[in-house]
Amino acid sequence: MGKITGSCQCGAVRYEVEADPMFALHCQCLDCKKSSGAGHITAAAFPAEAVRVTGTTKAFASPTDSGATATREFCPECGGRISFRSSAMPGMLALTAGSMDDPGAITPVIAVYHKRHVAWDHLDPSLPVADTVPPRG
Ligand SMILES: [Zn+2]
Ligand SMILES: [Zn+2]
Repeated sequence: MGKITGSCQCGAVRYEVEADPMFALHCQCLDCKKSSGAGHITAAAFPAEAVRVTGTTKAFASPTDSGATATREFCPECGGRISFRSSAMPGMLALTAGSMDDPGAITPVIAVYHKRHVAWDHLDPSLPVADTVPPRG
């Protein structure tokens, strides 16, 4: 896979990734709706040390329903969502698919928090879904 690059809408924040994604998913949770303004967010997870971000992001941290802390980072100029971290997965940094220069470069393999999905938010029906976040292993 080629190097993944991306930016926010205004271009003040850019990133490059030196690794392939560990996995990619759709998340239909309430916080992803509120932060994206859409029915779900699509993101790919990478080893955090492989992601180089230029420009300054602003972060918003909130508790997840499993007791972890989720941190969503965005451009303070245009508000574009860039990345996501969870205290439950240290060393992981997820990048939003929509911020990638080529969002088609990643392949989501699951939809999580499907129990929160909105009826009009249709995804590939062949994708597995999970009611929350499944244990990984
Ligand atoms: Zn921006
Ligand atoms: Zn979510």
